[in-house]
Amino acid sequence: MTYPNTQLFIAGTWQDAADGKTIAVHNPSTGKEIGRVAHAGKADLDRALEAAQKGFETWRDMPAIERAKIMRRAAGLMRERAEAIGRILTQEQGKPLAEAKIEAMAAADIIDWFADEGLRIYGRIVPSRGNLNVRQLVLKDPVGPVAAFTPWNFPINQVVRKMAAALGAGCSILVKAPEETPASPAELIRAFADAGVPAGTVGLVYGDPAEISGYLIPHPIIRKVTFTGSTAVGKQLAALAGKHMKRVTMELGGHAPVIVAEDADVELAVKAAGGAKFRNAGQVCISPTRFLVHESIRRDFVAALTRHAQSLKVGDGLAEGTQMGPLANPRRVSAMTDLMQDAVKNGAQVTAGGERIGGEGNYFQPTVLDNVPLSARIFNEEPFGPVAAVRGFEKIEDAIAEANRLPYGLAGYAFTSSLKYAHLLSQRVEVGMLWINQPATPSAELPFGGLKDSGYGSEGGPEAIEAHLNTRSVSITNV
Ligand code: NAD
Repeated sequence: MTYPNTQLFIAGTWQDAADGKTIAVHNPSTGKEIGRVAHAGKADLDRALEAAQKGFETWRDMPAIERAKIMRRAAGLMRERAEAIGRILTQEQGKPLAEAKIEAMAAADIIDWFADEGLRIYGRIVPSRGNLNVRQLVLKDPVGPVAAFTPWNFPINQVVRKMAAALGAGCSILVKAPEETPASPAELIRAFADAGVPAGTVGLVYGDPAEISGYLIPHPIIRKVTFTGSTAVGKQLAALAGKHMKRVTMELGGHAPVIVAEDADVELAVKAAGGAKFRNAGQVCISPTRFLVHESIRRDFVAALTRHAQSLKVGDGLAEGTQMGPLANPRRVSAMTDLMQDAVKNGAQVTAGGERIGGEGNYFQPTVLDNVPLSARIFNEEPFGPVAAVRGFEKIEDAIAEANRLPYGLAGYAFTSSLKYAHLLSQRVEVGMLWINQPATPSAELPFGGLKDSGYGSEGGPEAIEAHLNTRSVSITNV
């Protein structure tokens, strides 16, 4: 199985770092080094910034319909290459090949949607108050070069959401993608390059994340900052962007409540939320994490979720039939071990899994914890791993209060057959995305983003385009 080394993409050219520096990339299934990724220095960033400015001017001045054609060609290439790209993604990130291929195919759908949405950026004409010779125009222009910082859990998806919205709006984008999973996002960039995007309109760098964000965010060429990752880092970057008056989108951590009411379809709840829990080994910002289950059905629910967790085939993402791969890096395995030990110490019961899987690679068992006290760390910190934490509730109002207790507000799930509950939950649960009686469907046309400490701005729907536009008014008097 071949895994490529990854270069920087600057001014339309694949290249090594000027000083030749590289970083090792490891396969999470074996822990072994499988390749290298170029480590950009200041000289590389300066060239990338200059190219982003030139690329912006070219892309901005292209008719939207021509931009859309290039974007759709890139989407087509992602579809054609999904199998090969999926194999690269699985080797560097660990997720099962089927999930990796879906990620590449979904990228194509996201690009297509934003290509079309970019055609519908309209201003307006506002009637003047007096003189009919006055035309008052409201104009929407692309904000300028965007700096994007993306994480390793969905190496392609996290980039494509930012890229497609920026390009659809007429901006250029310079991406700092994850050093731990560099080659699959590079394939996304390659699809755009091969589709004919002008030099500099998209750029790709890797290196020291803090050094790069510290250099790009204050730089006058960059007009917008977009970040996906932890709340702690997001707050630092948002503060820096604020200091330099840059537009910002922040897609940060979550701790999604799953409210299973007394009248819920338990089978559906386990299938939908249990399935989502262990997807990508739980390393998903919208992963269900706090299962709040009505006491009258808690035993049945925990039994079914336990069977589901125990039935999952864990292994190398490239092996036939694997349903859950390793965690993406050793940090996640230590985090799971710590959270487990803390929960058990605080009185939680382990009904499935609970252990790291020995031997090589970052494997951890799909885990279910019942009766988790509110004081346990796992009920307060984003787990970002394959552990489902369950506790009971008596009244729906208590479940809502618990759902809203944490500073996070990204995703939420609820299962109920009561219209009354469904309305109450949709009004009262403080999350950016709520799915009732279904798994998550984060499609391109829906806003994607959080409230509170989960960030602000949206990475889906027309709102994602709007986030990349300046609004100006121009009044013209005909003399
Ligand atoms: P981390 O918080 O250090 O890094 C998260 C991401 O931010 C990484 O991609 C990293 O390269 C990047 N990053 C870190 N410091 C940065 C900086 N100063 N400037 C720019 N980018 C920076 O830790 P981690 O171990 O990689 O992940 C831990 C936690 O991050 C997880 O537990 C989870 O809460 C969160 N996370 C969230 C998402 C998400 O989709 N929202 C994705 C990955 C990680």
